[in-house]
Amino acid sequence: MDQIKIGKFIASCRKEQGMTQAALAGKLGISDRAVSKWETGKSMPDTGIMLELCAILKINVNELLSGERIMADGYDKQAEENLLEMRRQLEEKNRQLLKTEYLISFPTVIAGLFMCFVAAFVEMPVWVRVALVAIALVMILVVAFIAVGIEQKAGYYECAKCHDRHVPSYWQTNLAMHMGRTRYMKCPECGHWSWQKKVLTKDDDGYPPKQ
Ligand SMILES: [Zn+2]
Repeated sequence: MDQIKIGKFIASCRKEQGMTQAALAGKLGISDRAVSKWETGKSMPDTGIMLELCAILKINVNELLSGERIMADGYDKQAEENLLEMRRQLEEKNRQLLKTEYLISFPTVIAGLFMCFVAAFVEMPVWVRVALVAIALVMILVVAFIAVGIEQKAGYYECAKCHDRHVPSYWQTNLAMHMGRTRYMKCPECGHWSWQKKVLTKDDDGYPPKQ
């Protein structure tokens, strides 16, 4: 997908409808800065907002993702290509995220364990032993915190009850019970506790997308 082309297409459709960036933003309940970012190709509309955006611009989602009007007979092929491309991009993002988290956590844990092993079995003064174990523990702790930071910043967590998507605070994320990347947290929107799934589509102005 070509974000610049999509951005220009959004801008031209918006003008066709005789709307300013602020008017479009107002209808969608987001900031004009978010609209300006789409139109300059710096970000993509969140998937949660796309249908509403398309309805206002009088285009369909595939035209939006293609950055141009699509003739009726080319539509199906184009639709499939766009869906596949979106899926590929999400998968790629997910894979990168996982990789980064592992790339920093795994070697640190191995190094930490090795340091503890050395401290336990190699002849050395007591203070060196204590220092080695202390450094190993601090190292593992610091990296665990950084890994949670990566996870917290990448995308949203989705409330299982009201499907509100939000970014919890770092400490809320870090202290929450979790199974993999699904965390048990309180929803800021409806107040219910639930197992919140990680979702990667993110509107980067921090506005939750309308459902
Ligand atoms: Zn909720």
